[in-house]
Amino acid sequence: MTALSDAGGHVLVVNAGSSSVKLAVLDPVSGRRALTGLAERVGTQDASVRIDRDGERSTSTPDDVSHAGVIEALLALMTGDERSSITAVGHRVVHGGPTYSSSVVVDDVVRADLEALTPLAPLHLPGNLAGIDATTAALPDLPQVAVFDTAFHRTMPAYAAQYAVPRSWRDDLDVRRYGFHGTSHRYVSGAAAELLGRPPGELGLVTLHLGNGCSAAAVRGGRSVDTTMGFTPLEGLVMGSRSGDIDPGVIPYVAERLGVDAAEVVRRLNTESGLLGVSGTSNDMRTLLEAAAAGDEDAALAVELFCYRAAKHVAALSVALGRLDAVVFTGGIGENSAPVRAAVLARLSVLGVHLDAEANHANGATTGGRISTPGGPVALVVPTDEELLIARDTADLA
Ligand code: AMP
Repeated sequence: MTALSDAGGHVLVVNAGSSSVKLAVLDPVSGRRALTGLAERVGTQDASVRIDRDGERSTSTPDDVSHAGVIEALLALMTGDERSSITAVGHRVVHGGPTYSSSVVVDDVVRADLEALTPLAPLHLPGNLAGIDATTAALPDLPQVAVFDTAFHRTMPAYAAQYAVPRSWRDDLDVRRYGFHGTSHRYVSGAAAELLGRPPGELGLVTLHLGNGCSAAAVRGGRSVDTTMGFTPLEGLVMGSRSGDIDPGVIPYVAERLGVDAAEVVRRLNTESGLLGVSGTSNDMRTLLEAAAAGDEDAALAVELFCYRAAKHVAALSVALGRLDAVVFTGGIGENSAPVRAAVLARLSVLGVHLDAEANHANGATTGGRISTPGGPVALVVPTDEELLIARDTADLA
């Protein structure tokens, strides 16, 4: 570890979106949180900020509701000791484009690169940039590090990273499969190797991040070799409100039938589809499992479609590995929902993975994460911690 963590410094981890800013102040070695913070409704007159520490909450309503204003208000809610313990800032950045394959200290060149990448992630990068600018203005003496959701997947071979489209789309327009959730897949694949007591370099893993957003990755020898999300986070698994894989032919057809444009259909594929679209009621897995148990057939179909698609992609990704040592569940659903894991694993018996029902019921808590019976590939539950990985990268680079 670095001088920073040896010296006991804390990292401020910032996840800035267009209308919210989440932050945490944590020890990059132990992961212990000194505090967490949240700004909501940023940019509106209803903006509010809060800091939580040791079960205590402080709140305020900033006069300046911009990203700069809410960051200032969050820092103002910290004690002098908390502020002075921060020795570097790590930013979650959604897109690193074709260039960034690892985390980087933000300087003027990186800042300009990120601005230029905005067309690839127009809904998210402006919020990320606003967070970087606001934190740089508020804490000008501290190093600012960008940690990219896409970076872990830059090791995908060309045959996995490219679409079979005209070559000029890739060369001139940067159309390719980037993949997202890289910080989570990287964290849990490392943690899974530790739980298995094997060097990451020896392992073939499929990591399944099942939360409101969902993706799976094939991780061979500690490197991502394929993933389910693509040019945008829409591709791949069924998610809370995203459709996942769909024939693009649907888009102009629905646009014409509904009298809307293609961008509006894509918006609905991102926000009105997935579990929400199929069930017609909710994007929340817990709610749907309860509704399905109470006899709601649409909710049951949404859950089944979700689990089937997840299993299908695990099987497909195992092709990229050559060998399958473990399937790793993480994210709000992956870590907490025994019925979803059971349904996914039931379909994976074809790969030799067999569920240990009792261990699964306990979320692997008493079995070192293991929820499979001995013999075939291991199934594991591994809680993700993207903030900790961001803090560690930041401490390493600062
Ligand atoms: P995330 O985006 O990682 O916070 O995950 C959110 C999803 O996790 C939502 O669909 C929640 O319903 C789901 N989730 C959280 N806890 C549980 C649980 N105990 N059982 C089923 N789903 C859960």
